[in-house]
Amino acid sequence: MTEIPTRQLRDGQALPALGFGTYPLRGAEGTAAVTSALEKGYRLIDTAVNYENEDAVGAALAETPVHRSDIVVTTKLPGRHHGYDETLASFEESQRRLGLDVIDLYLIHWPNPSVDKYVDSWRAMIDLQKDGRVRSIGVSNFTVDFLMRLAAETGVLPAVNQVEVHPYFPQTELIDFHREHDIVTEAWSPLGKAAAPYNEDVIVKIAESHGVTPAQAVLRWHIDRGVIPIPKSADASRQQQNIDVFGFSLSESEIEQINALGTPDGRLFGGDPVTHEEM
Ligand code: NAP
Repeated sequence: MTEIPTRQLRDGQALPALGFGTYPLRGAEGTAAVTSALEKGYRLIDTAVNYENEDAVGAALAETPVHRSDIVVTTKLPGRHHGYDETLASFEESQRRLGLDVIDLYLIHWPNPSVDKYVDSWRAMIDLQKDGRVRSIGVSNFTVDFLMRLAAETGVLPAVNQVEVHPYFPQTELIDFHREHDIVTEAWSPLGKAAAPYNEDVIVKIAESHGVTPAQAVLRWHIDRGVIPIPKSADASRQQQNIDVFGFSLSESEIEQINALGTPDGRLFGGDPVTHEEM
């Protein structure tokens, strides 16, 4: 079993340096995938109300021999539940579906600026953390402007911002901002999903020189940039491959070469949080 190093969040919680994505795994397939991931050593599990698989994740958590305190469970508040009271109610539904008293990391899934209630949700999440029902609070798909508004109106910055990051969309400026403000970056679609850059010469060469697969080179690129990738795989051997990335590291030059694959419109599906909304 692979031991994953951890990063410390601003609130003291230790976050594994690599996690397991669960979208779109549901039902028995979802439970089996999470069970297998836990067996391989994954300790950060990423779910969301909108993935409709909190129950499947909860079933795996109920059965695993891994101690509860060694697992960091993340779930996310959907756009349709924004608002102070709505957030508290949605949280209780997530708790019930996951079968957990305490959720380790609770994120606002998308800012949904047209709804303009993410600050109210953030206030509810601050209170959930104060009450000990959530260990760490964070956001997903927040830009610098949205983050600064949270800080201005509540005085509390998120511990984590989970955003789209892959070689075609490296988000260097946002990651630099996070580093300056002690916000940990998590990368969604870290492999680039369907647009996976495995055939790019740069990545093939870097992978060959380290004796690893292109996917492993990409995951290591994230880790060496201080980003926590949360790759999803339903396949046991790819789950193993994706976690076996702690025995090598990339040079500054290799990191820069992969960064150079990025373009301003490199997003996978146009998910600009200023205009894209998910309820
Ligand atoms: P991803 O992890 O970059 O890619 C997943 C795809 O890559 C799957 O098709 C998987 O297929 C394949 N794959 C996995 N490992 C591989 C390997 N070693 N070699 C070749 N192919 C491999 O993309 P994602 O699932 O979109 O993102 C990961 C997680 O981020 C999601 O599951 C979800 O938890 C989260 N997410 C969050 C947001 C947000 O708004 N916050 C948005 C999107 C995703 P197999 O399963 O067949 O291996």
